[in-house]
Amino acid sequence: MSALRERIASLIAAQGPISVAQFMTLALHDAEGGYYATRDPFGVAGDFITAPEISQMFGEMLGLWCVQVWHDQGQPKNKRLVELGPGRGTLMADALRAARVAPEFLLGLDVVMVEASPVLQKAQAEKLKDCGARIRWVTHFDDSLTDLPLLLLANEFFDALPIRQYVKTARGWCERMVVEKAGALDFALAPAPTPSAAIAASRAAAPDGGVYEVSASATALTEAIARVIAEKGGGALFLDYGYGEEAGYGETLQAVGGHSFADLLAAPGEDDLSAHVDFAALAAAAQHGGARVYGPRAQGEFLADLGITGRAEQLMKSNPDAAQGLFAAIERLIGPQQMGNLFKALALLPPSAEKPPGF
Ligand code: SAH
Repeated sequence: MSALRERIASLIAAQGPISVAQFMTLALHDAEGGYYATRDPFGVAGDFITAPEISQMFGEMLGLWCVQVWHDQGQPKNKRLVELGPGRGTLMADALRAARVAPEFLLGLDVVMVEASPVLQKAQAEKLKDCGARIRWVTHFDDSLTDLPLLLLANEFFDALPIRQYVKTARGWCERMVVEKAGALDFALAPAPTPSAAIAASRAAAPDGGVYEVSASATALTEAIARVIAEKGGGALFLDYGYGEEAGYGETLQAVGGHSFADLLAAPGEDDLSAHVDFAALAAAAQHGGARVYGPRAQGEFLADLGITGRAEQLMKSNPDAAQGLFAAIERLIGPQQMGNLFKALALLPPSAEKPPGF
């Protein structure tokens, strides 16, 4: 049994069943055995590939989005650029390079990476060592990020935040817990239903066995970001796979290792765990925090509006040999059968600001 698996066993022995959210937090972030805490999972040789690793064009488009939003709000001299969960640092490197079209944007810019994993913090520092900007790291979105206009990017970050799951049964909505059964981890429903009228009302049409997933971490963080943007200005852009109004009743929690699906409970810390993002819940949290919300809009439409195809043509002209790779990258990022529809973009702006590009 791995050390992390033993820690989960003693936690369950001490407190009884643990929530799916607690299990996710341990499996992803345990300092010794957690998935992100111990490795760089990205790329062809890793467990999955994300948009910034597919093409430099993705980060460039997002960098230019930030410059435009800053420009539209009167180009404040002091401002902060924050990325949540920056992975290998590729998106930030591409965004900062693209932002050189507006040198005043880069002057007086506080660049902050919000990254929990020490391994990935190191990979990011290495990637960005020659980028020309001064960068600092924090492990979570904290009070040091609230005093300036905020431009914030988050790609495939919210899907990694812990969720709790509730299952509709004849006796009401019962929380799904992680338990020990015959020496293995297993799921079991809490015997007593969760007394939440809110779940019952919003999911009245759910069939028996229907699942409702909630991420308190995601909504609390979104509200905190919205508050800064409403008060200080700026804009936030979340890109992730998830659903908008059309939330279904199935579960979306998944484990991925070596580019294929894995068992959720078999080897905690060895596979990536993620869940589809509930964009309607994030939008409601952002409005509660005082921001105006744009989207969710399909990633394909969003990137096409920002001009990603024109950027590809430009790159092809300067390097015709790269044409095939660029066509393939564009297809992956915006093709409706690929990432174009499943992935969505959501933007948070101050209520007084004009519509951001791409929406
Ligand atoms: N944005 C990157 C990586 C996505 S994977 C890309 O698109 O390639 C998720 C990232 O979020 C990883 O860097 C992971 O270490 C980080 N992360 C996950 N949960 C976190 C948390 N609660 N706090 C801070 N960082 C977190």
